[in-house]
Amino acid sequence: TLTGNALWDTLFAPHEGSESIFLHLPDGRTISYAEFLGHSARLAGALRQAGLAPGDRVAVQAAKSADALALYAACVRTGLIYLPLNTGYTAAEVSYFVEDSAARILVCDPSSEETLAPVCEAAGARLLTLDAAGTGTLADLAIDAAAFPGAEPRTDDDLAAFLYTSGTTGRSKGAMLTHANLASNALTLREHWQFTEADTLLHALPIFHTHGLFVATNVTLAAGGAMVLMPKLDTAELVRWMPEATALMGVPTFYTRLLADPGFTAEVAGGMRLFISGSAPLLSETHRDFEARTGHRILERYGMTETNMSVSNPYEGARKPGTVGRPLPGVELRVVDRESGAPVPQGETGIVEVRGPNVFKGYWNMPEKTAAEFRPDGFFITGDLGRLDEDGYLTIVGRDKDLVISGGYNVYPKEIEEILDEMEGVLESAVIGCPDADLGEVPVAILVPSPGATPDLDAIAARLGETLARYKQPRGYEVVEELPRNTMGKVQKAELRRRFSASRGGEEAPR
Ligand code: ATP
Ligand code: MG
Repeated sequence: TLTGNALWDTLFAPHEGSESIFLHLPDGRTISYAEFLGHSARLAGALRQAGLAPGDRVAVQAAKSADALALYAACVRTGLIYLPLNTGYTAAEVSYFVEDSAARILVCDPSSEETLAPVCEAAGARLLTLDAAGTGTLADLAIDAAAFPGAEPRTDDDLAAFLYTSGTTGRSKGAMLTHANLASNALTLREHWQFTEADTLLHALPIFHTHGLFVATNVTLAAGGAMVLMPKLDTAELVRWMPEATALMGVPTFYTRLLADPGFTAEVAGGMRLFISGSAPLLSETHRDFEARTGHRILERYGMTETNMSVSNPYEGARKPGTVGRPLPGVELRVVDRESGAPVPQGETGIVEVRGPNVFKGYWNMPEKTAAEFRPDGFFITGDLGRLDEDGYLTIVGRDKDLVISGGYNVYPKEIEEILDEMEGVLESAVIGCPDADLGEVPVAILVPSPGATPDLDAIAARLGETLARYKQPRGYEVVEELPRNTMGKVQKAELRRRFSASRGGEEAPR
């Protein structure tokens, strides 16, 4: 029965009473949809009993578990706004997000209760812990069975979640996501990637990020499929479970690590129907090596916290390596000139803009920033640079903030990184802009050597001298052991700029 709560009706209501498996836990235990929804009903009762009203924020910093997911369901059910926090955040960071969002409650694991108690006290929020036994209860509250609520009616425009962006380019912003945003995206993806109840998804992503929660989990729920809930990326575990699964969603690191594991063979991957990559660019050599090893072509797609999943290569039809595919049904996309805002000719690089039911309502508490990132006609300015090919496939060229403008010329780091990454002795690279008195900025290449190798910088510079126009050639090289990355495997270029602008004797250019 539909309740007028779009997200509940899309993800959870259809499975009430179903004995089908929803979760496979790492220890082999399974949790059916009926059990899962029972857990979520108990948690919903507890949230109600704690005096929360629809629209209140529930901040959650909890390890990946069936209960943490049941808490998400409980918030949707009671019309509360679910606000998941990175499990790596320190108490000081959690404190910032609890205060910024004015969350009334923070839910955590029993193990972090002591550390987070002062945070809640200072913020005037209540602290609740999930039951250590994983029974789908909040340890601190006695549950009154009569208080188990049905689903709270919500309008499509009501908020279902606040999700803070990954913080790759600066301080994380709270993206306000509505019922309609999340429900419509889940249904679109289910159709586009042909998810059904016969699917079992290998889930090794965090559940505090749009990829693991609003893509991977929501699409599985919308289809009534199952997920293997893995605490983190562990290729041996992926290989072990793969014969029982049908699909994998990961960031590019998943695929490079799988390829580095000799146990990952064509036989192991044989029963899988879909490998999806997103959140960061997938290198063409990964595409190539993956297909050579398994016969599968990785499906690359593009999305962000603010727009949910908006662009994808097709399930059937041509998947083009190097592109993230075409806009999903209902999503409009254009590529515009960064100065004038006018669409650029096909094939030229500009800023990617997106409009559709998937696009968020705005940044929490940041009306000016929100206004600045939307065009008057409703298109959202993603801040990513891209170009469209003759078939309408989008290639992400990088982030506008990472663009290097040298002597008035645009230098796209990705173009240089792709050449460097293929070179002898180079494992990976990042090109950043460093201040230059004469040219404003110049490109500088940061290199990570292949294991045991010492890159020959003179030879590399000479090679680039033959392949790239002079203004694109790095004016400096730095060798590091590894690139700074966030939890989604994204290279933190702001961090590199901070580090190397100073050591190169300049101030970081304002962005
Ligand atoms: P912040 O906005 O706080 O700086 P973030 O942009 O990394 O952090 P997310 O919303 O998690 O936060 O990530 C969205 C971004 O990830 C996109 O804007 C894009 O730059 C990048 N991205 C996602 N998918 C792809 C892809 N397939 N290829 C290249 N980049 C991608
Ligand atoms: Mg962003």
